[in-house]
Amino acid sequence: MSESTTYDIIIVGGGPAGMTAGIYAARAGLKAIILEENITGGLVNSTYTVENFPSYPTIHGMDLMKKMRAHVDSLEVEVEEVCEIESMSLEGDIKIVETDDETFNAKTVIICTGRKPIPLNVPTECDQVHHCAICDGGPYKGKRVLVVGGGNSAFDESLYMITLGIEHITLVEVMDRFFAAQGTQDQLLGTGKVDARSETKVVDLVVENDELKAAVLENVATNQQETVPVDGVFVFLGQNPNNELFAKKIELSKNGYIITDEHMATSIPGVFSAGDINDKAYRQITTAMSDGTIAALAAERYIRT
Ligand SMILES: Cc1cc2nc3c(=O)[nH]c(=O)nc-3n(C[C@H](O)[C@H](O)[C@H](O)COP(=O)(O)OP(=O)(O)OC[C@H]3O[C@@H](n4cnc5c(N)ncnc54)[C@H](O)[C@@H]3O)c2cc1C
Repeated sequence: MSESTTYDIIIVGGGPAGMTAGIYAARAGLKAIILEENITGGLVNSTYTVENFPSYPTIHGMDLMKKMRAHVDSLEVEVEEVCEIESMSLEGDIKIVETDDETFNAKTVIICTGRKPIPLNVPTECDQVHHCAICDGGPYKGKRVLVVGGGNSAFDESLYMITLGIEHITLVEVMDRFFAAQGTQDQLLGTGKVDARSETKVVDLVVENDELKAAVLENVATNQQETVPVDGVFVFLGQNPNNELFAKKIELSKNGYIITDEHMATSIPGVFSAGDINDKAYRQITTAMSDGTIAALAAERYIRT
């Protein structure tokens, strides 16, 4: 697309919020483009089974996102994937978004950048640290992994890794109990392949020749340390908002989420936001889609008045 094209809406982020906004924009006759730094689908791509999306009692996350993307494509919404946004100029009547190789102009912007996993904060880094069992679990068949976190994600993803044939899981939670649903805890521990430890944190990793060999764990009650041999680490410590692009421009909550009104309007006229990046109580696929719907309709009204 040439540099002179002015869009009605630039949608930043192609998860459920962004794709829904794209569908509504297209159906309103607006010229919209989705700029996605990875592939479309967002966090749902790494959710093994979605069981609360009305019309599909159970569906693989990636399959659901492929269907959503097909809908977007059927309406000829432009999509740019693997697209690194370098800057956004949001204040004027025409918003400007610059990527590594192109400049996009639009009357409105809808920010749908969602969240990203909280990293494992230890001194030694290595390529064997992951945040998604569906994406990265396969190569660990027959091997030992460390799972960090004691909530639903940690237990659900561990169960999935057992089905992949992972030999043994050490699961650590720093608090004095696990927070996953009791049924899921029972199911995972019932496999006999999991050593689950509360009051335990990861202090460091042992890496030799770029290969992870072990994790150093510490019992926070006794301060006792132990080195446990592992081949991979899967971290499920929750999520942080993806706000680096606009953190200094748009009004955010103290936790870094965008504050909007009921029309998904942000503190900057013509800039809307939708989905998990918003300051709100419930972050789900359906609520992200609802926000995306409202943001696109509100952007349409902004453009037409
Ligand atoms: C482990 C886990 C399991 C879950 N399971 C369920 C479930 O079963 N059911 C359910 O309803 N919800 C579930 N959720 C919540 C659901 O995934 C989110 O509410 C939903 O994905 C939010 O959609 P979104 O479009 O706002 O954000 P996201 O899905 O996070 O999408 C944001 C998109 O923006 C892109 N992006 C970020 N920054 C930039 C940038 N600078 N430039 C361009 N693109 C960018 C990202 O790559 C991503 O594709 C789960 C969440 C997690 C973490």
